[in-house]
Amino acid sequence: MDTDGAPDAFPRPVAEIESYHAHIYYETAIMRDRAARLRTLIGERFSARIGRWRDTPVGPHPLPMFQVAFAPDVFALFVPWLMLNRDGLTVLVHPNTDNPQADHLVHALWLGMRLDLDGSGLPVSMRALGEAHDPIEPNTEPVFMP
Ligand code: ZN
Repeated sequence: MDTDGAPDAFPRPVAEIESYHAHIYYETAIMRDRAARLRTLIGERFSARIGRWRDTPVGPHPLPMFQVAFAPDVFALFVPWLMLNRDGLTVLVHPNTDNPQADHLVHALWLGMRLDLDGSGLPVSMRALGEAHDPIEPNTEPVFMP
């Protein structure tokens, strides 16, 4: 149901997806080193906004991680590249629609081990809160083909 009580459209159009996040998790120092290498490789190959290191768990995420935010047109190259190059790290890829809770808990895909997220603090409607997703302003300068 959406906020005015009307049934959600089904099937939902992919145009509801404003952007995606990839969250790259690590636990040990060795995994953090791998995450750092992956972070560099991503920045050299994809137009994206790479977030800061989160060395303590934050929000719904049960492990340290960093986030890569990217536009829908980057998905078709970036996600297959992650499949081949995640180097044993667990990666959560989720869409960003009006419903962050469902984006994380229902509509996500996982590369590697699936982790338990705590979605209790995530809103079910950004619009209802008068909020919006940040536009993707890339902070990378790709120099290599993926
Ligand atoms: Zn996210």
